Amino acid sequence: MRIAVLALQGAFLEHEMLLNKLGVDCFEVRQLKDWQQEKDGLIIPGGESTTQGKLLRELGLLDPIREAIEGGLPVFGTCAGLILLSQKVEGNSPAAPEPPRLGTMSMTAARNAYGRQLGSFHTEASFKGIEGNIPMTFIRAPYIAHASEDVEILATVDGRSVAARQNNQLVTSFHPELDMDTRVHEYFLKIVKRSEERFSRN
Ligand code: GLN
Repeated sequence: MRIAVLALQGAFLEHEMLLNKLGVDCFEVRQLKDWQQEKDGLIIPGGESTTQGKLLRELGLLDPIREAIEGGLPVFGTCAGLILLSQKVEGNSPAAPEPPRLGTMSMTAARNAYGRQLGSFHTEASFKGIEGNIPMTFIRAPYIAHASEDVEILATVDGRSVAARQNNQLVTSFHPELDMDTRVHEYFLKIVKRSEERFSRN
């Protein structure tokens, strides 16, 4: 198994360290040439979604990555990654043009709108499909404001949806890569393993 980690900006290194801890091979995607390597899944890290979106477009990565996800490639987006995967986003400046996005998940993300997150915070909450509470670190986090029926909500904090899955796509508002707990990444790797049966390596 080999996981691509988008490494244009943000907390990509922490994801790589967590994958290393789990003994999973990964590589960084900084340009189209990197992306063209064989892979079984993709992680989009937290950071700044507007910067990552612009870089994705500039580097010619936006369309190939979107096509791969639509073709079934498993993807895990944390925080800014959640925003990039959302079809719609609330909370962008109305004056500026909408920043580029992958927009492959049928949901709306509310950006920088999470009450308690205006400062960052840490909590623990349950996560569907994982036993026991999961540590959750939120840093200027988005939440899922609306989701279509195809999207399964996996975790809720203060009545806000903070983790979800739509087939091959997994997102969290929080940063599991910043805590020592590996269970959310293991949950993603299970999606990767299952999809390998159905999709050839893109
Ligand atoms: N607020 C950031 C954004 O809009 C996301 C924050 C994060 O990824 N920690 O992109």
